[in-house]
Amino acid sequence: MSDDRIVNYAGYGRHIPLRCKNHPDKRWSTKNIIGVGARNIFYNLHEASGMGKECACSISDLIPLTAEEAKAEGREE
Ligand SMILES: [Zn+2]
Repeated sequence: MSDDRIVNYAGYGRHIPLRCKNHPDKRWSTKNIIGVGARNIFYNLHEASGMGKECACSISDLIPLTAEEAKAEGREE
């Protein structure tokens, strides 16, 4: 089985949370398929309060949350 997902803790095609490495409070979401940005990136999909305006950093600055981080934030699907 080929590993064509971004993270292993979520199923293929599920939405996974991303954070901006320059703005660690901001959250995006994308589908769990290789690679980041292959499909639409959604800003603040979970509508967390206080994130403010979307930043203009490049997709390469968006980093998937680890399984532990996702679980801690209640974003695990
Ligand atoms: Zn940013």
